[in-house]
Amino acid sequence: MYNFKVKSIIYDYEVKFIDNVKKVLKQEIREGDFIIIDNKVKALYENTFSEILKRYSFIGIDATEKQKSYQEITPIIQYLIENGFRKNHRLIAVGGGITQDITAFISSIMYRGIGWLFFPTTLLSQGDSCIGSKTSINFGNYKNQVGGFYPPNKIFIYPQFIDTLTEAEIRSGIGEMLHYFIVAGKKDFEMFREKYKAAFTDKEILAEIISRSLEIKKSYIEIDEFDRNERQVFNYGHSFGHAIESLTNFRVPHGIAVSYGMDMANFISAKMGFIPYEIRDEIREVTEDIWEGFYIDDIDLETFKTALSKDKKNVGKKLGLILNKGYGNIFKNIMEPDESFNKLLEEYFMNELKSKK
Ligand code: NAD
Ligand code: MG
Repeated sequence: MYNFKVKSIIYDYEVKFIDNVKKVLKQEIREGDFIIIDNKVKALYENTFSEILKRYSFIGIDATEKQKSYQEITPIIQYLIENGFRKNHRLIAVGGGITQDITAFISSIMYRGIGWLFFPTTLLSQGDSCIGSKTSINFGNYKNQVGGFYPPNKIFIYPQFIDTLTEAEIRSGIGEMLHYFIVAGKKDFEMFREKYKAAFTDKEILAEIISRSLEIKKSYIEIDEFDRNERQVFNYGHSFGHAIESLTNFRVPHGIAVSYGMDMANFISAKMGFIPYEIRDEIREVTEDIWEGFYIDDIDLETFKTALSKDKKNVGKKLGLILNKGYGNIFKNIMEPDESFNKLLEEYFMNELKSKK
């Protein structure tokens, strides 16, 4: 019902919503294919996968940022080469964004490109990262430094996987999806606001939100797959968000950090006169709900400014911030990190971190 195709400069690919992973995996897998599976998913869904994993080759991986690195993927490549993996064979990734990035990166470089399929198992990977073809992996401790663009051939979304995620991961996925709905416009934001709470328990509604989130992302990546122009608005909330993630040592998950980031961007936008305060408050009602239980009052403002100055979207010393001119009107603003900007940040950290409800 929600199936669609994504146009890509590399090759077009399909996204399908499914209700039986075992059946679909059995239908899709061919002799010689290797499955790359998140060990946690493998253990949690033993009944689903054990028969297939006995019959076909697989590599179990731990979904950690350390594993997702240039250094730590070489044993995987070596294993594939030494165990009969050939150019006509494919990799099948089963896991979240980490498993995706590892599989996509290896697929893009092995034998000058091999086919791969993806079964995303986290909300973030189902509602966001599975499309868009980015393949970055870490280089040592430096995050997402090495990579390119290389989509899977097919993506199969099984929303029931969400049942075993922690609350933090669900909140993170919901927070990440929210930014697509604000970028898309008022109607989408209202739809999200009306339904996101029910999505925690109702898989039909969750599938609807995931599907709309991907549909919005699709409309941008199809015109700017390589992230040179239009697609950049999806960095909304991300410059601040990345700083929050790293300064809390990833205690605050990505999508929750992005929710704070969107609120900061909205606060600055309201202060600079780009949006009325009502819009900022309206979105804040939702973001406060998402970040509940994850607080960032311990972040030091000076360290935050330093982290922000290292953002890879900055141009020289200027900040490349994505700000808000209203629903459906998110834009890039190149600005100096000057006295008045610093005052706004100070004000945010002093007064705005307390609950507004
Ligand atoms: P993840 O792969 O890091 O997994 C998070 C945790 O959930 C892990 O402990 C994993 O073992 C566990 N897990 C996975 N599926 C589960 C399930 N169904 N039930 C229970 N536990 C499960 O998760 P993520 O948040 O999807 O991905 C984060 C990574 O994705 C980051 O490295 C980020 O850089 C990357 N990312 C990539 C893109 C892209 O476009 N390529 C976009 C966004 C994020
Ligand atoms: Mg993101």
